[in-house]
Amino acid sequence: VKAPLPQYLEILNPEQREAVLHTGNSETHSLLILAGAGSGKTRVITTKIAYLIREKGLDPRSILAVTFTNKAAREMADRARAIEPRAGDAMLRTFHSFGAWFLRRNGSLAALPPGFVIYDDDDMVSLLSTIMEGAPRAEVKIMAHGIARSKDYFLSPDDPELDLIDHRKLFRTTYARYEERLAKIGNVDFGDLIKKPVEILRQNPEVASRFRDRFKVIMVDEYQDANIAQFELLKELSGTGTYICVVGDDDQSIYRFRGAEVRNILEFPDRFPGTDIIRLERNYRSTAPILHAAASVVNHNEGRLGKELRSERGPGKKPVLAFLPDQDEEASFCAELISKAVKGSDSNTVKESETKRKTAKTESIENCRYSDWAILYRTNAQSLGFETEFLRRRIPYRVVGSLKFYEREEIKDALALLSFLVNPRDEVAFRRVVNKPSRGVGPSAIDKITEEAGISIIDELDGLSSPGDLAAASRRISPDLSAKARSGVAVFLKAIDAGRKALKETDSNFSPDADDDETGTVAAPSADIPGTTKKRPTLKGEGLQAGEGLSVCVVRLAEESGIAEHHLTHDEIAGNQRLNNLQELANAASLYPATMRGLLEFLEHIELDRSMEENSAGAGEDMVTLITLHNTKGLEFKRVIMTGVEQGVFPRDDKNGDDLEEERRLFYVGATRAMDELYFCSCGMRRMFGRTMPMEPSSFLREIDREGLRIIGKAPYGFARPSGTDSAGSPGKAGKITRSSDGRWQIGDKVFHDDQGYGTVAEIKEGEDGPIVKVHFETGHETRFLSLHQSSHFTK
Ligand code: ATP
Ligand code: MG
Repeated sequence: VKAPLPQYLEILNPEQREAVLHTGNSETHSLLILAGAGSGKTRVITTKIAYLIREKGLDPRSILAVTFTNKAAREMADRARAIEPRAGDAMLRTFHSFGAWFLRRNGSLAALPPGFVIYDDDDMVSLLSTIMEGAPRAEVKIMAHGIARSKDYFLSPDDPELDLIDHRKLFRTTYARYEERLAKIGNVDFGDLIKKPVEILRQNPEVASRFRDRFKVIMVDEYQDANIAQFELLKELSGTGTYICVVGDDDQSIYRFRGAEVRNILEFPDRFPGTDIIRLERNYRSTAPILHAAASVVNHNEGRLGKELRSERGPGKKPVLAFLPDQDEEASFCAELISKAVKGSDSNTVKESETKRKTAKTESIENCRYSDWAILYRTNAQSLGFETEFLRRRIPYRVVGSLKFYEREEIKDALALLSFLVNPRDEVAFRRVVNKPSRGVGPSAIDKITEEAGISIIDELDGLSSPGDLAAASRRISPDLSAKARSGVAVFLKAIDAGRKALKETDSNFSPDADDDETGTVAAPSADIPGTTKKRPTLKGEGLQAGEGLSVCVVRLAEESGIAEHHLTHDEIAGNQRLNNLQELANAASLYPATMRGLLEFLEHIELDRSMEENSAGAGEDMVTLITLHNTKGLEFKRVIMTGVEQGVFPRDDKNGDDLEEERRLFYVGATRAMDELYFCSCGMRRMFGRTMPMEPSSFLREIDREGLRIIGKAPYGFARPSGTDSAGSPGKAGKITRSSDGRWQIGDKVFHDDQGYGTVAEIKEGEDGPIVKVHFETGHETRFLSLHQSSHFTK
């Protein structure tokens, strides 16, 4: 008789269990799990980590598991640790954080200094604009984008295939010069975090074999979003004895615009011969009606593998489609819905529950919390309306992945000071802050310094104590500067020196080979990187308050350099806010030790967090989550409201073909986050690009059969479609007519719209309740189908 399985394996379904227990044999040593949303892919990975340690006696340190967001990496670690505490010693990271970890230890093989800093997109653009002198910013951005894509595809400047990214010769030469400059500075960009490790592993067989010896098991979650460079990294890390397990869902591939290659998953069995494939076909997350709605949409895609997925949870509430007049109403609809549900469940737990239950049978009587709710939108900018409304109604919320914090000028200044401190060759950082606030170091002085001295300025700082020494140091750095510029540089150096002195160990004590953080999850503390929660610390007294650890260094740099004062006096109102932001940065730093290593970790954590638009501030507290659709990957919420489900917003107007299919997958990802309740909001009007525009419901909504939705609010003309008709039902498909049935409208009619001005009727359709017209406006903006009752300010 077989021994009973441990509880944590017992609760899996047979396919999941097979996947967990699969460890390969002499013929197969890799596993591909291909399965739809909510089928337990992530659960299989976390359980497998625990299983391998616990039952198979594997050293946790020999397990590497990678995923795409910091949040997901943390969750993976938490889930695995809950089953087996030793899982905390396994290496669970994002691809980029793994790359940074790798380069910190082996970067010298690619001539990287140990204190390299990771450049974000903005820094890339700054560096490129010094290369592409005089080029318009838009042009520089295109170049930066092309370079980033090239790295995603593992293409170097001399690669013949680079033409596929951008065939201009200028692109090739600029890319090459960019690489030279970056190497001279000694920093890396995001693409390098993956590309450089691959190069190092290829050029240094002894390093490769060390890694292959170490990681016996490699697992990848969300594999559908891996790009070519990441695939190459995986290949270099795996030797003949490595066991690889990747999990993914082709229907959830939403990063092709960033170079993700779904063929990675399709071709996996070819690239890794001896791959077993396991499919998981039961969804444990969502009720049947939610799953049905999500599937109906993604079923319209052509390029897909097609997978079975049935709901284990069975019947539930139909998704609600709410038609709302405009985005203000949308925000208050959401606020109302959420506060009613939360308050309703509150009072339920108190006395009147008895009567309540009788009067409102349909309402869920289970405890509903703010954190059960998530508001999803296509673009970051859409969060603002909800924020305003929620603040007004005192609904607690957090914005996930709001990039705004790190984009703020004062924060970028402070980070530049810190970056320069760890890497005194960081030209981009130097340029940003050497003359801020203004101290007479003009552009030509900066050019001179960076060209002549190669700006390894910090070497000059050793042993300096008096201002006189500083002046001498700055003279050595660039002998032929004006006296004014030189004393300006001296002031800057003094500030950097002050920051450096706040660190306990100096540069030389930092050893990249120290192995004490070998293990574990992403970076150090997780919950306090600022930028998302709205509770700001209020400053007591004057100036910045230094707290523990690294915050001393941040505060000293900000004050000595004068940027704190500079931003405070900038203007009365914004100034205080800016100082508050700097304080928030300092608060976050207080979680890190005041050492060079602590500083590097702090910067790295911020860089990586920011890049993946992922943030955990406020996690664990009872708050509504405001989040972009892209960021919801892998997450789940009891109740989800997908907002702005309008043509032109989601999908965006310019999407067609493959891009439209990608938007559809994004819809699928969003809808499958919901466990119990799903809402779609579609507005009749929306303020976009500074004007109010009439909107049509998203074509995706037409792909869900009407019986599968509960519609509230007034459906716009043309949306109401009797069941059984053309299932695509898109506006363009109805027969062309030249005159409306009521005789009022004819193609070619001149119209006037209050917001859009003059235009001409280009197309007419019959909706269920009346005609709809499409108008070409003279401004060049083409409005989609306008139902005429919608706009009182629309005249013939
Ligand atoms: P996604 O594609 O969205 O990343 P996934 O396939 O990774 O989804 P999980 O997040 O692992 O799915 O699981 C979805 C939900 O179903 C989780 O709440 C998980 O705990 C639950 N679940 C998975 N398997 C089972 C099971 N066998 N029994 C009960 N619940 C399960
Ligand atoms: Mg998952």
